[in-house]
Amino acid sequence: MDKNVVTYMGFESDYQQSCIVLFGVPFDGTTSFRPGTRFASSVMRQESYGLETWSPYLQRDLDDYDFFDGGDLDLPFGNPIRVIDMIHDYSKEVLLDGKKPLMIGGEHLVTLGAIKACHAKYPDMAVIHFDAHADLRDEYMGESMSHASVIRKCHEILEPNNIYQFGIRSGTKEEFEFAKANTYMELFEVNTVKSIVDQIGKQPVYITIDLDVLDPSVFPGTGTPEPGGISFKEIIEAIKSLDTLNIIGADIVELSPNYDQTGISTAAACKVVRELSLVMVEDK
Ligand code: MN
Ligand code: MN
Repeated sequence: MDKNVVTYMGFESDYQQSCIVLFGVPFDGTTSFRPGTRFASSVMRQESYGLETWSPYLQRDLDDYDFFDGGDLDLPFGNPIRVIDMIHDYSKEVLLDGKKPLMIGGEHLVTLGAIKACHAKYPDMAVIHFDAHADLRDEYMGESMSHASVIRKCHEILEPNNIYQFGIRSGTKEEFEFAKANTYMELFEVNTVKSIVDQIGKQPVYITIDLDVLDPSVFPGTGTPEPGGISFKEIIEAIKSLDTLNIIGADIVELSPNYDQTGISTAAACKVVRELSLVMVEDK
């Protein structure tokens, strides 16, 4: 008999020997439109077994590396500040142990906790952000701790000019003006990822992928679908071009599995996790 504890496919090593630590953050407390991302990590663990451990894109296998699945954080719903603190504390522990956090959201606000922890260890870090939405609001409905303001919050922490945004196709006029002055932003597409990667070089970098960057026709399972997005092949190409970077941590957020009963969105999210894990490994 096994204990029926499901870990992410290929994430079966123990903590000590692993280089990458996956953990789930089932939080959707500030979601502005349709909630449900709290279910993403558990559904993804189940559905990940529909994929192979081998990546034909990267020519690497999850089974050739040590990955650990730490499970889900046990979060106090309704208290975003404490949620961010708990994510920070867990990420900090992982980083102090010389490992890389790989977080599955949840809504996008969760990124803030991980970036705070990464920044304490790597003050000169950059952030690469894929999303349909700019997430640069100063506040949303009077609330500054919101998934619509997470990148703005990160901007306040990081050194200037270290945020690179791709695929953006939604935001307020103020957000786009803020981006012009303060971030690098590629509208609609992800064509310049490779040249930005070359520019970043060996600077420590955190990757945050809001899966709604994908077009809703390939990724309908999300709270705020935004037509006009990129294809699955384009996100895979973009992830492949991150391979030369010094990635210190990453997250995948905003899958809301129950809005897509076909399971295609969850399958897409699982495949993104596989590819992202395999570009984060060191001895490749
Ligand atoms: Mn977002
Ligand atoms: Mn988004």
